[in-house]
Amino acid sequence: MAMSNPDRNSFSTSIREILHKYNLPLPEDLLQNPPSKHQWKTTFRNATTDYWESTWKEELSTQSTAKYIQVQSAPIGHPHNLWASTNPKPHEVRRAELKARLLTRTYILQSNTVRFNRNEVSATCKLCNMGDETREHLLLTCKAHTQVRSEEMNMLQQIIGRQEFAAIRCNGDLLIQTILDCTHVSLQQHINLSRKQKTDVERWSQIYCEQISSSRTGQLSEAI
Ligand SMILES: [Zn+2]
Repeated sequence: MAMSNPDRNSFSTSIREILHKYNLPLPEDLLQNPPSKHQWKTTFRNATTDYWESTWKEELSTQSTAKYIQVQSAPIGHPHNLWASTNPKPHEVRRAELKARLLTRTYILQSNTVRFNRNEVSATCKLCNMGDETREHLLLTCKAHTQVRSEEMNMLQQIIGRQEFAAIRCNGDLLIQTILDCTHVSLQQHINLSRKQKTDVERWSQIYCEQISSSRTGQLSEAI
């Protein structure tokens, strides 16, 4: 962690921002008293879990749309799968945050924008014009991301198995539940995932969401 010039070094700036956001020690303090790898993983996971569980609980208390989130009753020491599957590295944290925004519906899509600018903005997807750009549209059906989706769905099938994949692929609600939070109790009667599979599915889903998001951003900027 080179800290000599944080403004010009995006890597160290990124680390500084992450530490600040999750109320973790300053980089200088970590360099002076470096924790062991195990201590650091535990501290990081507790801090991120604390932050996101309170965000999710707030969301759950106000919105029925947070139905895909499985929130544990005692989160500290038992981080949500999203964070338990994430290594404390800047690019993995960024990816996990993007996934967390999709999970909590705080990732801004046309369908969110229209709530604030009802007269000036349309909820219709700008990339395919074939429906409102909702989270479900983005992740499951938007034709603009078909190639990314089909490649990544093959990966998901390899992780969970052909039969399990067949059980969820035709049911949009089960598929989006698997993408957003594969630990949710509602999935247990349909697919039985091992602990390792839950980690692998979560890591896969973070990459999937990142790729879909990049595909969206790239195509939107080309369209301007
Ligand atoms: Zn679309």
